[in-house]
Amino acid sequence: MATATLPLFRNEPVTDFSQPAHRQAMESALQEVRAEFGREYPLRLGGESIFTGDKLISVNPSNTGEVVGIHHKATRELAGRAVEAAWAAFPQWAATPAEERIRLTVEVARILRDRKFEFDAWLVYEAGKTWPEADADVAEAIDFCEYYAREMERLAGPHPVVQLPGERDEMVYLPLGAGVVIPPWNFPLAIMVGMTVASLVTGNTAIVKPSSETPTIGAKFAEVLRQAGFPESAFTLLTGSGAAVGDVLVEHPRTRYISFTGSRDVGLRINELAARTQPGQIWIKRVIAEMGGKDAIVVDADADLDKAVDGVLFSAFGYQGQKCSACSRAIVDARVYEQFLEKLVPKVRSLRVGPADDPANFMGPVISAGARKTILDYIEIGRREGRLLAGDAAVAESGYFVPPTVIADIEARDRIFQEEIFGPVLAVAKARNFEHALELANDSQYGLTGAVFSNTPEHLHEARRHFHVGNLYFNRKCTGAMVGAHPFGGFNMSGTDSKAGGPDYLLLFLQAKSIATKM
Ligand code: NAD
Repeated sequence: MATATLPLFRNEPVTDFSQPAHRQAMESALQEVRAEFGREYPLRLGGESIFTGDKLISVNPSNTGEVVGIHHKATRELAGRAVEAAWAAFPQWAATPAEERIRLTVEVARILRDRKFEFDAWLVYEAGKTWPEADADVAEAIDFCEYYAREMERLAGPHPVVQLPGERDEMVYLPLGAGVVIPPWNFPLAIMVGMTVASLVTGNTAIVKPSSETPTIGAKFAEVLRQAGFPESAFTLLTGSGAAVGDVLVEHPRTRYISFTGSRDVGLRINELAARTQPGQIWIKRVIAEMGGKDAIVVDADADLDKAVDGVLFSAFGYQGQKCSACSRAIVDARVYEQFLEKLVPKVRSLRVGPADDPANFMGPVISAGARKTILDYIEIGRREGRLLAGDAAVAESGYFVPPTVIADIEARDRIFQEEIFGPVLAVAKARNFEHALELANDSQYGLTGAVFSNTPEHLHEARRHFHVGNLYFNRKCTGAMVGAHPFGGFNMSGTDSKAGGPDYLLLFLQAKSIATKM
């Protein structure tokens, strides 16, 4: 095992925007980033800039008249070339000493820290994140770099195994090969950075296909990788439509693994395509797939209701409910059901919705016109299924705004109880007792996050054993997983439970070789 040289991991602190200096720094960053609006970004393949002419226009979801960046989309032919190039570059990158790969990964963290306000601003403008949400995304990206760098220190070099008499026995971890990294738009920096640096620090070469909703953040991250000193042959940023180039990347016989985070349907499709062996393919592709959620917060009869209300409020409406961990179902004991709603609804109605660059707004826009339409359609369905208590407030027309919505008296069979909406829509259901509440919480094909507000130790014990989710929280919100402390990943249709930001994660990008020498 390599000797650890990095200091103990600590989570990156988030910025306190109540401090005038930080506020000012953010205002300046917003102005500087705005001055870069409309810039054109070529594709980069093997150190060459490519202008395909087929353009992807990324707009500001808070103000759709503003073009954040113009990107040249990859073709299927370029996607094939990217896999071949990643495969060709693999032996050299895999042979680069782990110490060097670790050093470069820590350097990425340093640069992101240095450019934190700038990245905050890109996230505000391209992903519609409010200041604190953007800042948490950047902090998490930094955490992934720092954490995986330390994990690689732990995993590099031989590992202790039982020594048989007359033999020297060893086990070492090797990278897999050329991998494809497909992140979503909702943590456009953190998740992309996490999956990419996990690939690179372990010695794999990677083709990163950022979401077509957030290509500028992808381009800026590629800039950071180059600035840190990662050789361009080790990674390719392949901007373009997932539907157009995704299949080529996944099906290519030289693709060794796919690290995907996104929706259930796309994840299942990737899993299916990757399982089909292609002519010339000599391995079983590994699929790491983190997918959707329909996360529930259970509120027990003896819960501290004010805390439960705030937990639900932040989990359901932070970043407009567009987190895989967002609370989309509140399941409340009948004895406190009406009281809970009486406390929750006025708070929801008072949430300010508007452009994400204005720090007075708690909620910004949703990501796209398509997302807005889907969410509004679900609100219509919800109106028929239950009792609409919030969600009819007027919102600005300049961007993709949706009011925070609460629909009560929802039953387990209802669509808004079962289907992932991925927007600011909370379904509230009444439970007969705690046992029934847990039963309702588990009545889902997903199993990502969940929380319980209760003061009964036996109930918490019961939830520990029976609430079937990958990330369970007691007496706190169900969003905001921290790298290192809350390894993240879900059960069932929420994915392969990769536990990003945890000690098992890098093993998904490695294979172990056992070596025995007769003495
Ligand atoms: P999505 O599935 O639409 O897209 C994810 C990525 O896949 C994007 O980069 C997209 O371009 C690409 N893609 C689309 N079609 C493809 C295809 N046929 N082949 C290959 N790639 C393709 O998801 P999204 O809308 O970007 O993100 C939201 C979803 O992600 C939600 O379901 C959310 O719950 C989930 N999510 C899960 C986690 C987690 O850790 N479990 C974290 C964040 C988001």
